[in-house]
Amino acid sequence: MPASPDASLDLPSFDDVEAAARRIEGQAHRTPVLTSRTVDERLGARVFFKCENFQRMGAFKFRGAFNALSRFTPEQRRRGVVAFSSGNHAQAIALSARLLGMPSTIVMPKDAPAAKIAATRGYGGEVVLYDRYTEDRQQIGRDLAEKHGLTLIPPYDHADVISGQGTAAKELIEEVGPLDAVFTPLGGGGLLSGTALAVRALSPAAKLYGVEPEAGNDGQQSFRSGKLVHIDTPRTIADGVQTQQLGDLTFALIRRLVDDVVTVPDAALVEAMSFFATRMKMVVEPTGCLGFAAVQAMKDALRGQRVGIVISGGNVDLARFCELVGAAADGAPAA
Ligand SMILES: *Cc1c(COP(=O)(O)O)cnc(C)c1O
Repeated sequence: MPASPDASLDLPSFDDVEAAARRIEGQAHRTPVLTSRTVDERLGARVFFKCENFQRMGAFKFRGAFNALSRFTPEQRRRGVVAFSSGNHAQAIALSARLLGMPSTIVMPKDAPAAKIAATRGYGGEVVLYDRYTEDRQQIGRDLAEKHGLTLIPPYDHADVISGQGTAAKELIEEVGPLDAVFTPLGGGGLLSGTALAVRALSPAAKLYGVEPEAGNDGQQSFRSGKLVHIDTPRTIADGVQTQQLGDLTFALIRRLVDDVVTVPDAALVEAMSFFATRMKMVVEPTGCLGFAAVQAMKDALRGQRVGIVISGGNVDLARFCELVGAAADGAPAA
């Protein structure tokens, strides 16, 4: 292989995904794979939804967090873990730490939704609040790590996190067999790069797509230009993927193993949320709808194919859910 800029990176492989699957067994749910006759008829394809909205704490992030924490040495466990996140990673780390009997510290913005702060505390995490306009959360996380000997686990750019996230696609393909195309949301790229390891090993001919909101297409720009592109925090209802750039490990894997990165508008996410609620009787958060929205937009290219979609999570405030879906039902634009 020619020397590449990422030749020095220690990238995880499918062996690591298999090891992660053994570590999380009995702790993570083996989530259901759902199908819908209505979807199949509308699209003229066979669609399999891997429902991580039914995962513990409501999103696939539990997989990567639990895998990473279960690899700690006894000394690391004794001192504990620190993470910075306002979203699902925070809850995933707090819950995993509690299950493994170690302390966790989660750095969250002061203005994070009260429900998320409460959920993180409810899982036993010690919450440290910061001001997102004047303080740097990475610095706070690093300071805490240094001062108290805590181990920092980032939300996506970490080999054990990536390997854990890949277990969802591994379960999907083992359950339904090889696929022609697979779609996952794309934020920092932990889910997509882990999925890529599983797909290339178990269904190598499948086309693999990452899906971003239109407003936050840094991953698409990076993928297509071959250079890591950084953007301002995007304005989108897909709050699980408001990342500004891919990680070094995730970008290296995505460049090598993914077929393309596509985008969808927020309005398509709202439409998918309504569909999941009314037809499939389930709550999916806006970010979790990215894959299905992209599949609908690419309908013509997917006709006759077997398509896998990872629904990444279901954590959305009920009031927010009603606001988004209700506005769409009234014919008003959802904001
Ligand atoms: C974190 C998250 C994503 C994005 O995952 P990355 O690994 O950052 O790409 C997608 N959906 C949900 C629900 C998430 O919590």
